[in-house]
Amino acid sequence: MKRARPTSRAAQRRAYLQDLASGWAPSDYRGGWPPRAAEAMEAIRRMDAGVYGLCASCSKKIPAARLEAKPEATLCVDCQSEREYRRAG
Ligand SMILES: [Zn+2]
Repeated sequence: MKRARPTSRAAQRRAYLQDLASGWAPSDYRGGWPPRAAEAMEAIRRMDAGVYGLCASCSKKIPAARLEAKPEATLCVDCQSEREYRRAG
C-alpha cells in the first residue's frame, strides 16, 4: 500500500467532494442544504483541519472501504446509524 500516492488520492477525493458540495443550490431547498452536500462540505472542512477519515462523533478511524464508497462520510457506521435512528425517532 506504500506505493499509493496519498496526495493525488486526496486531491481526487477533494475534487469529488467539491463537486458534490457545489452541485446544489441552497435556495432550492426550504430546509437548507441537502444532507449530502452538507456532508461533503463538512468533509472538506475536516480535510482542511487534518482530521478527515476520523469519525466526527467518536474520533475513531473510519474504515477506508467506507470512505471509498462514501467519501463524504464524517461519521463511522456506528455513529451514523445511531444518528439516523435518532432522527427517525
Ligand atoms: Zn463514530
